[in-house]
Amino acid sequence: MKTIGLLGGMSWESSLSYYKAINEGIKDSLGGLHSAKIAMYSVDFDPIEKLQHDGDWEGKAKILTQAAINVQSAGADFLVICTNTMHKVAPQIEKHIDIPILHIADATAEVLLEKGIKTVGLLGTAFTMEQDFYKARLRENFGLNVLVPNKEDITIVHDIIYNELCLGKTLLASKNEYLRIIESLASQGAEAVILGCTEIGMLVEQKDTKVTLLDTASIHAQKAVEYAIQ
Ligand code: GLU
Repeated sequence: MKTIGLLGGMSWESSLSYYKAINEGIKDSLGGLHSAKIAMYSVDFDPIEKLQHDGDWEGKAKILTQAAINVQSAGADFLVICTNTMHKVAPQIEKHIDIPILHIADATAEVLLEKGIKTVGLLGTAFTMEQDFYKARLRENFGLNVLVPNKEDITIVHDIIYNELCLGKTLLASKNEYLRIIESLASQGAEAVILGCTEIGMLVEQKDTKVTLLDTASIHAQKAVEYAIQ
């Protein structure tokens, strides 16, 4: 079994779900007392979030690159960055490590293609929904059409992530807002909606809606399990 490198803490609430899902996945696959071999570096999210909102992506790339080097030194065979947004700096991190990065957008796109989905809605931070590092990868590498909410709804989705979910708060009013936005994306032609932020699965689950949801945290964790035991 390969050692899974986790770059977590963004936020730790979602890293917790990765740790659990990966260990459950290994146990389901291998049985007995098997559990995942994991080397994890969990960052302090507060300074990182400030750099994000100041637009200092270089500063963040430096912190995460050093963390990724630490994960590699701890014996990881590959790297899982436990956040969608921070994949913006994955190309910089990649240059400084020798182990491969299991990209969260690629893992999600593969599931979409398996389901035969061509047009998909995307929820996440404003960085993920507005900038091109994530959407372009889905479009150009996998031929997917990506729909995002309108400007006002992007702000709602973004603020709930940073002011509530990353602090471990799940509020019914926020869940209803997310479900409204998911329905709206579906009515515009989305055949499924990507929960493209690793905390959204804490708020909205498949049982809450008829629209097909793709929870990136759980897909990414499952992909890590498959890759580890390949
Ligand atoms: N975990 C979130 C994501 O998947 C947002 C937190 C962050 O900015 O990394 O994008």
